[in-house]
Amino acid sequence: MTPTSLELLKKYSVPGPRYTSYPTAPYFHTGFGESDWAETLAVPAADRGLSLYVHIPFCDSLCYYCGCNMVVTRDYGKAAVYLAALEHEMSRTAALVDPTRKVRQLHWGGGTPTYLNPDDIRKLMAMMRKYFTLTEDAEISCEVDPRELTREHLEALRESGFNRVSFGVQDMDPDVQQAVNRIQSEWLIQQVLDWSRELGFSSINLDLIVGLPKQTIESFTRTLERVAVWAPDRLAVFGYAHVPWMKKHQKLIKEADLPDFTTRLALQQRVNEFLGAAGYVNIGLDHFARPEDELVRAQQNKTLWRNFQGYTTHKDCDILAFGASSISQTADVYMQNEKSPKRYQERIAATGFAVERGLKLTRDDQIRRDAITRVMCDLELDFATFGNEWSIVFSDYFADALSALRPLAEDGLVDITTGKVNVTRVGRLFLRNIGMCFDRYLKEATRNEQPRYSKTA
Ligand code: SF4
Repeated sequence: MTPTSLELLKKYSVPGPRYTSYPTAPYFHTGFGESDWAETLAVPAADRGLSLYVHIPFCDSLCYYCGCNMVVTRDYGKAAVYLAALEHEMSRTAALVDPTRKVRQLHWGGGTPTYLNPDDIRKLMAMMRKYFTLTEDAEISCEVDPRELTREHLEALRESGFNRVSFGVQDMDPDVQQAVNRIQSEWLIQQVLDWSRELGFSSINLDLIVGLPKQTIESFTRTLERVAVWAPDRLAVFGYAHVPWMKKHQKLIKEADLPDFTTRLALQQRVNEFLGAAGYVNIGLDHFARPEDELVRAQQNKTLWRNFQGYTTHKDCDILAFGASSISQTADVYMQNEKSPKRYQERIAATGFAVERGLKLTRDDQIRRDAITRVMCDLELDFATFGNEWSIVFSDYFADALSALRPLAEDGLVDITTGKVNVTRVGRLFLRNIGMCFDRYLKEATRNEQPRYSKTA
């Protein structure tokens, strides 16, 4: 890493959102309630498909780095109660949504969806098919924890129509695995990959994390070498967000074991070089895919979109999310459910909904969300095209953003000389900082009111 790029990284390593939504989740408010959500669901939107998400919050054991909404429990009885609540929520929701709208994408996340036993996997998917109609070519994906997984779990997923799986690999080094309390051998990962391929899943994603305790360039390079042999279709390489003030269990990670700033950045650079050389294309912030993958094609065609599940090819879908803490999204509304599974179940039993908070987007929110999404997905923003789409004069409407972008242009992160904002090669490492220039909420909040975000680099 050159001193110049290190200086830039130090300068731009500031707390900032990942922009899986805009406005970001801290701005959702409790003034948005069940009647608002019922009204939103009933809005006719025949031209928009559906993307369903189900959150299964249970896990067998705690990974110390975890940033998800989850409950560690060995009491499987909780799953049956939770599944009943999910069915109640789906029936209440489906009763309000236009039945001709089809599901183009379906995803189970968590927690650990494969905490469910094979019979309950079949039961949950049958439940979803009872209330919603899936297209023939729907993308149906599930996050899978290789530990505790059996071939029967994968068979149940495949028989239920799942065609994609995503495995949490994170880091294969034994010291790192020990430090984060997630032990999984190479043999184990190899076995679940073999099963998945034998069973005919058409796309396999592996998740990795940089910035974990005890990680070194050498040890993580060994993980990358292993991963290259496994040859997944996609990879998501997340930066570990150490936020022990929000996630108390992260205090179990010794701060002295975390890689220092320079190592962390060198790790990120190693990932980009290694995966690039292995034939993967970097999609924006943290995703990599093979050149023939739909994500790469969508980026080339400028139809890539970003939502709570990361990068997606399904821009024109409303996300209906079920389960504790899950976030739904329509063209102009975000809605988040109660986070605690217990309270979620109580609220569902009472009314069929468990709305904790939400937000109705203003036109300005929608325009700024589109601008942030365009730079994070397309890596460019054409003033004239964007202005025509939203009936605005770009340079007037975004005078604030353009002046905020000026120092980034001087540092070579963006080029704004040709009626476009173009993200440069160096700027790809700073997409969150570039997005922040368009964020009205960041600008208006005083320092003390500012939500606490993880660092951008
Ligand atoms: S399995 Fe996933 S959700 Fe569960 S504790 Fe580990 S990281 Fe968190």
